Amino acid sequence: MAAKKGVRIVITLECTECRTNTEKRSSGVSRYTTSKNRRNTTARMEIKKFCPHCNTHTIHKEIK
Ligand SMILES: [Zn+2]
Repeated sequence: MAAKKGVRIVITLECTECRTNTEKRSSGVSRYTTSKNRRNTTARMEIKKFCPHCNTHTIHKEIK
């Protein structure tokens, strides 16, 4: 049986370095999309991922 709709939601993770560095071009923001279980993960997710714009691993935070 399929789980009730709305438990697993798609979220977007965005590079925090790209967001805080305003001198960079606004188009260059690394984003990852993933999904999470809303019931198990209520807080905002933070994952370290490679950002091609920063050319290093940075913290990617969930955005709405
Ligand atoms: Zn970045």
